[in-house]
Amino acid sequence: MKYVRFWLDKLNLRRSFRSRLGAAIATTILVFSLLLASIVGVISQRQAQADRGELLSQLAFQLAGALDRDMYIYYQEIQTLASLEDIRSPTRSLAQKRHLLEQLQQLYSNFAWIGLTDTEGTVLASTQGILEGKDVSERLWFVEGRTQPNVQNVHSAKLLADLVPNPNPSQDPLRLVDVAAPVLGADGHLVGVLGGHLYWQWATTLRDSLLMPFRHYRHVDIEILANTGQVLLAAKQNHDYAEADTDLRFQSLESFKAAAQGGTGFLLEPGFDNNTYVTGYAATQGYRTYHGLGWIVLVRQATDEAFAAARALQTSILLWGTVLGLMSGALTWWIAGQMVKPVLVIAATAERIRTGDTYISMPIFPGRDEIAQLSRSVAQLFANLEQQTSLLQQFNADLEAQVAARTATLKQLNQQLQTEIDVRRQAELALQSANQELQRLTLVDSLTAIANRRHFDQYLEQEWRRAVREHQPFSLILLDIDYFKLYNDHYGHQAGDACLRLVAQTIVQTIHRATDLAARYGGEEFAVVLPNTDAHGAVYLAETLRQAVKALHMSHARSTVSPWITLSLGIATCQPSVTLNSINLITAADTRLYQAKQQGRDRIQADH
Ligand code: GH3
Ligand code: MG
Ligand code: MG
Repeated sequence: MKYVRFWLDKLNLRRSFRSRLGAAIATTILVFSLLLASIVGVISQRQAQADRGELLSQLAFQLAGALDRDMYIYYQEIQTLASLEDIRSPTRSLAQKRHLLEQLQQLYSNFAWIGLTDTEGTVLASTQGILEGKDVSERLWFVEGRTQPNVQNVHSAKLLADLVPNPNPSQDPLRLVDVAAPVLGADGHLVGVLGGHLYWQWATTLRDSLLMPFRHYRHVDIEILANTGQVLLAAKQNHDYAEADTDLRFQSLESFKAAAQGGTGFLLEPGFDNNTYVTGYAATQGYRTYHGLGWIVLVRQATDEAFAAARALQTSILLWGTVLGLMSGALTWWIAGQMVKPVLVIAATAERIRTGDTYISMPIFPGRDEIAQLSRSVAQLFANLEQQTSLLQQFNADLEAQVAARTATLKQLNQQLQTEIDVRRQAELALQSANQELQRLTLVDSLTAIANRRHFDQYLEQEWRRAVREHQPFSLILLDIDYFKLYNDHYGHQAGDACLRLVAQTIVQTIHRATDLAARYGGEEFAVVLPNTDAHGAVYLAETLRQAVKALHMSHARSTVSPWITLSLGIATCQPSVTLNSINLITAADTRLYQAKQQGRDRIQADH
């Protein structure tokens, strides 16, 4: 099984060039021998047809001729005997005459019977005395024989059937051919009729002797037919003669028709079985004075057999073509294998080199043919490839080194950059804290540009102490914009900032005393420090501030107390003393502011 698979793999047409070549050669030879076989078949069949036809037609012609010549001899002998003085003379004894007849019979063993009749048809003398005294006046040979020599066609024996020996009992019944001649007296008048009956067996013997040289031809059928188509001599030994008398099939054969018109030749025609036959044909023509009975001889051989040699030739060409085709295919396969061996070696070496075998080198085949050229080219190719590979490796190594160097440089640069960034970040942080410090130190609110909370705290403390020392009243107003969160929500933070600036400006412009200080207390809350101001003055100023802002008519769509921006204000006044603290004042003002909001906004709230 393994072995079979090995060979199947080896012969695989798709994978093996040598198999393809072998198959191509084998197929070509097979096709040519097929072609040759059919051409030779046609030619040799045509030749065989002509040869065999010619031969069979000659056989027919010869048999017809032999029948005619023999018949002529018997016809002539009977006439000669009839003209002998011993037969004609009435003076000769019957015994003498009988002796003459028997002499002729001995000479020609084909005579079954020879007899001499009187003019009335009574047998006077005969061989072995058979039928002597019998009346044969009804017989055609006698009737015609009274006036002229004649030959009567083959017929079955009647009177003689049991009286003469049948030389071939198998050819039953006994068949005879009659020959007769008138016997004339000295004065030329009829004195009797001399008749002879020939064994038709004679024709069989003639036929067999003629066929003798061709006895190795099986199935050559020879028929002798009357010109009526009646079978006189059948080809088959065991032919039923009762049927033969009525068998008129042969009339329909083309060969019969051609022979009946006096022709000689051959043709191909279907037989009565399914075979086709080559048929040679001829008709008896008579010989010299014998005019013949127009017998027709057919010599037939089935084409299957006649052309067997041609067929055998065709078959052997096919057979040899196949054998030669297969042998050439195998031989080509082997030769191709030898021829492509170096290529296989080159391919295998190339494959090993490709898969990384560095210890092998490409073989170079000597000579100047294509394979030597190929091996040199491939070896050169691989050498170049190796060189290029090492160059490439070198180049790669260089490149890698360059990349490594650049990476190192880059890393260094990166580190430097990082350091620089760190330094800058630290500087930035320092700057930020410095800025914060600066902001803390500054006293102005960056948004509204009025005093900031720090300034407010310092100033409040400073003026509080002065008021304690100088015993002067002290007031503080806290201002808060109403619904400012909603304002921001509605108009946006930018608008909110602008509003804060405008309110701050308005507050600053409304206060007049140099000691008064307006500051941004945080968010949207403002504070006004009023040293040396009593409650009355503070209320008055607060009311003025409220109106001034409202008079700005800054739209506030979301406010529920007014269509414009409004303020709520808380006022606190006291007489500062060492027991009091400025924080108390702020708290008091904040409480009032809360109350103003509670009571509906857009209003001022002072101490009671
Ligand atoms: P009320 O009438 O009770 O005082 O209501 P209100 O919305 O004014 O009071 P609240 O204290 O709830 O809201 C104060 C809002 O002021 C919060 C904040 O959005 C806004 N605000 C504070 N500081 C600033 C600032 O500097 N700019 C701007 N645009 N808005 C500020
Ligand atoms: Mg507020
Ligand atoms: Mg407010």
